Amino acid sequence: MKAEVSHDLCIGCTLCTSICPEIFYMNDEDKAETLEPEVPKSLEKTAISAMQSCPVEAISIK
Ligand code: SF4
Repeated sequence: MKAEVSHDLCIGCTLCTSICPEIFYMNDEDKAETLEPEVPKSLEKTAISAMQSCPVEAISIK
């Protein structure tokens, strides 16, 4: 699975980085980014939880 963040949609709430810091971090422009786009099996549930928690649906995981 791969995680992506739409910078156009991200409002910088930091929720995804709190839920899944192994995958998401905040960049210098206060937008979330993926540290590691390829989500390891062991982090899939947490990454999906972060995706579902995003208030503006800026995260896609496929
Ligand atoms: S949860 Fe969504 S809006 Fe909040 S920082 Fe992450 S991607 Fe951006």
